[in-house]
Amino acid sequence: MTVSTEVDAVVEEIRQAQKLLLTTHENPDGDALGSLLGMHWILQQLGKDSLMYMSPDEFPLPYEYRFFTFDDLVGAPPDDVNDRVVIFLDCGNIDRMPVDFLQRDGIHILNVDHHHDNTRFGTVNLVWPEASCTAEIVFGLAKELGVEITPKIAHALYVGLVTDTGKFMYENTTPAAHRMAADLIDAGVDAHGVYRRLFEDLPFRRLQLLSRALEKLARYDDGAVTLAALTRADFEETGALETDSEGIVDHLRSVEHTKVAVLVRELLADDRRGLSKVSLRATDGSVDVSVIARELGGGGHRQAAGATTELSLDQLVELIRAKVAAQR
Ligand code: AMP
Ligand code: MN
Ligand code: MN
Repeated sequence: MTVSTEVDAVVEEIRQAQKLLLTTHENPDGDALGSLLGMHWILQQLGKDSLMYMSPDEFPLPYEYRFFTFDDLVGAPPDDVNDRVVIFLDCGNIDRMPVDFLQRDGIHILNVDHHHDNTRFGTVNLVWPEASCTAEIVFGLAKELGVEITPKIAHALYVGLVTDTGKFMYENTTPAAHRMAADLIDAGVDAHGVYRRLFEDLPFRRLQLLSRALEKLARYDDGAVTLAALTRADFEETGALETDSEGIVDHLRSVEHTKVAVLVRELLADDRRGLSKVSLRATDGSVDVSVIARELGGGGHRQAAGATTELSLDQLVELIRAKVAAQR
């Protein structure tokens, strides 16, 4: 199926559906949240009964997304879940939304995403790897559905766009991404205000955590791998939350010679002791970090990928160095 037939199929599904349930991946990022809210308000404008599902464990959201408010959010399966068409947004693999009720047989799923390694777990799949972000796909659907892009829809989609393109700096920054930005600014987005809310005016503990990571910076293989590892103690001593580590890996990629930047952080929840989250970022096209993330049981994009692992830091460093060397 071509992407345009996939778009047609999803548009038809949405037109026919009356009740829907929207969800995204765990640890939602700007694209996950922006696509979720944008799609919700699009469906509301079409007169649909739409609910959003996220686990209560996701709250509070990362500080930069504090301005998003959710009116029709559920934290448990609604009674009529079997009557609802479920839309997964920005979720490459159904295990990234680890709740049983959404993984049962008989759930009718529209899978709307831009991950090239999407497992196509939906009943209907709209997987468009050329899209800069899932919000771009949602924007396209809105146009097909004849929806007016209100300022709040525009704002939600813009957050997805600006975060997934790294402020229009990553390789997914296409002409279409810039055209979408222009359209959204026309529709009422305050671009500088969004920038301030997302990337500035952050709690001091964030910078303290960043400073810990920079102090611990390690470089391997002539700088091809740049890595920092944050421990539970780093979080405890700075008062930082897990979500305060968001964005640190982007500082690591700026060092000369880096092919792959890695942030490893110990997970803080008691039931996740012994596990670490690994974030991988490629700086140029020479290494596909999603390959390394999949090796660790995770996934993602060629340039940005992640995984959760039981490996020790030494084991991880060894594995990552070997996998980067194998691709160079
Ligand atoms: P992160 O390092 O958490 O910012 O994630 C970067 C990208 O990797 C995200 O856009 C996701 O697509 C992907 N990703 C992160 N963690 C996982 C995971 N556990 N499984 C699959 N994909 C992941
Ligand atoms: Mn995402
Ligand atoms: Mn995305």
